Amino acid sequence: MQKGQYLKVIDVQGQQVSDMVAFNKHNKKEKISAGKTFDFEETILLTTGNFLWSNTSNKMLKISEDTNGRNDFLLAPCSQETFEIMYAHQGHHPSCLGNLAKNLKFYGIEQEDIPSAFNIFMNVQIRADGKISVQPPTSCAGDYIIIEALMDVIIGLTACSAEDSNAGSFKPIHYEILDQYLK
Ligand SMILES: [Zn+2]
Repeated sequence: MQKGQYLKVIDVQGQQVSDMVAFNKHNKKEKISAGKTFDFEETILLTTGNFLWSNTSNKMLKISEDTNGRNDFLLAPCSQETFEIMYAHQGHHPSCLGNLAKNLKFYGIEQEDIPSAFNIFMNVQIRADGKISVQPPTSCAGDYIIIEALMDVIIGLTACSAEDSNAGSFKPIHYEILDQYLK
């Protein structure tokens, strides 16, 4: 995506998470950072009006609109190991990290370079004592988020394949890249 373009991510059927990562197209060592975003936005719940910051403290993306309003930036993208460790799964299991790594390799980005994803529509609840739990998404069919690129970026986007994150079933995620956005 070029600076000034908008990414629209659509939950077509509802209750489907989409993990998103972003890298500076001209310096792939610069990428979205949950820690920096929490620092500068002073919240862990990111929605309309919030920026997603990079690991070198630049604004990379801005959330222009978010019809659902619940996203997560705490948890790492699910991986083969997630299913083995948390679910005692045996054999191959599709995963966000696997999908991101496979497709970002084309851009010279290795699996080890992939940061914690911004997990669109993911509903992670946080208790006052710090305990976290993954709940079904609150997103309904047609909910969407619009994200403005504040620099030229390479975006990785998945439809998550972790049962607990998606109310037990896997659905498609749609996206569009918009040159203009007028609310
Ligand atoms: Zn996932």
